[in-house]
Amino acid sequence: MDQPPRLTTESGAHVADNQHSQTAGPGGPVLLQDQHMLEKLARFNRERIPERVVHARGSGAYGHFEVTRDVTPYTRARFLAEIGKQTEVFVRFSTVAGGRGSADAVRDPRGFAVKFYTEDGNYDLTGNDTPIFFIRDPLKFPDFIHSQKPDPHTNRQEPDNVWDFFSLSPEATHMFTWLFGDRGIPASYRQMNGYGSHTFQWVNAAGEQFFVKYHFKTDQGIECLTAEEAAKLAGETPDSHQMDLHEAIHRREFPTWTLKVQIMPAAEAKTYRLNPFDVTKVWPHGDYPLREVGRLTLDRNPANYFADVEQAAFDPAHFVPGIGPSPDKMLQGRLFAYGDAHRYRLGINHTRLPVNRPHAAEVANYGRDGFMRGDDNAGLAKNYEPNSFNGPAETGEPLYAPLAPDGPSGSYEWEDREGDDFAQAGALYRVMDEAARARLVANIAGSLSQVSKDEIVTRSVAHFRAADPEYGERVADAVAKLRSRTAPPAR
Ligand code: NDP
Repeated sequence: MDQPPRLTTESGAHVADNQHSQTAGPGGPVLLQDQHMLEKLARFNRERIPERVVHARGSGAYGHFEVTRDVTPYTRARFLAEIGKQTEVFVRFSTVAGGRGSADAVRDPRGFAVKFYTEDGNYDLTGNDTPIFFIRDPLKFPDFIHSQKPDPHTNRQEPDNVWDFFSLSPEATHMFTWLFGDRGIPASYRQMNGYGSHTFQWVNAAGEQFFVKYHFKTDQGIECLTAEEAAKLAGETPDSHQMDLHEAIHRREFPTWTLKVQIMPAAEAKTYRLNPFDVTKVWPHGDYPLREVGRLTLDRNPANYFADVEQAAFDPAHFVPGIGPSPDKMLQGRLFAYGDAHRYRLGINHTRLPVNRPHAAEVANYGRDGFMRGDDNAGLAKNYEPNSFNGPAETGEPLYAPLAPDGPSGSYEWEDREGDDFAQAGALYRVMDEAARARLVANIAGSLSQVSKDEIVTRSVAHFRAADPEYGERVADAVAKLRSRTAPPAR
């Protein structure tokens, strides 16, 4: 066997003894001069970085995206420019509400974040396993998450808080129907779809603008867990999603997803019967069919979890030429919030970390210094612009097309078009077969029946009734039955 390398301190001095701290004689106190011990303990104390406020628990893998259909009539993005073209990707999946040490098999949306390392810089598509979201205005996001996270007093997720917020936010009815349905607990990350959720902008070489919605359809087939199966698995194998993904890739059973998009010519956005930028709604397939784009394959486990998965930072504001934002308000809020979260969690130089830096493009700008600048900090190059020293210069070519203003500034509700907050929730209820509807109702009732205030239950049931009268009736009956058996605890 080869000689192992010498064990050293952080400064490179070799370590004579890694089992016994230095003491004043065999039975005496530990010495302050034991630099190796002090450094080892101090480093250990600093191993954890701040946990993500949401999506704290996650798993990730590298792979590639391959174009299978011609989409050049719709976007000039170079990584989508030819059939057969491959681009390296890193994907991080996650749950949302639980902390870093929580179980995987829980009822929660799943994050589905894809970083495309393109030749024009990184393109981050930071989606979920749901085509919709709970709310449509970023101003509501901290309140929404507070209602899902542990209560400030009891320090547990409180049904009161979850349902109070829901009952006062009718736009969440569609997403709650999704979440409490079968797809609210995927069997694994491999067996769920991913969605960009928001509407994005594509621009072709002629400058024509389109709005698109992304759908990553799992090629493994959708598999979900019932509440009972999940409770057992979460208790016995809390790392079930992590193990499943890691072991499948290790066995070389590489998971794949087929990327499809719905495409809307920009001119139709103004007159479409639904607001196409409202993230609480889908575009019905009958209006905008799915068109194939390519295949996402995950084929490499990261060598080191912390380096690549914990330090991964996705930012929906990272666009490449040919792709841009839409006026979706939630998306616009996320364009700020993600980069800001990374600057807090990882620092200003997080974009230079190996998993986050562009792999197929050069970074050339005048950003300098900051905590933990690990590269040469651009060496002797000038750090201001404009300059006379041939420094990086602007190109004058916008990445995407401008979005038009829509009237005087103010705090607005979305304009009212056909399709209220309940129609698509009802459509989803009716997509489900009878057994799935029964499970949906039982899941909702199991949680809603624990609420302490009648008014919260009444308002919540009214939302489900507005979605579909049968749906509402069944939830009301099931809640009444459960509540008659167990009086909710006084709060
Ligand atoms: P379609 O009949 O064309 O599509 C129904 C969709 O529902 C399919 O994509 C199907 O996914 C999905 N689905 C099936 N069972 C469930 C479930 N238990 N939970 C969540 N999704 C499920 O209808 P429309 O496009 O007119 O949409 C009708 C409703 O379907 C919408 O209100 C929405 O709630 C839901 N839906 C719509 C999507 C869209 O982008 N239009 C996407 C996903 C859901 P699969 O093909 O994988 O089985």
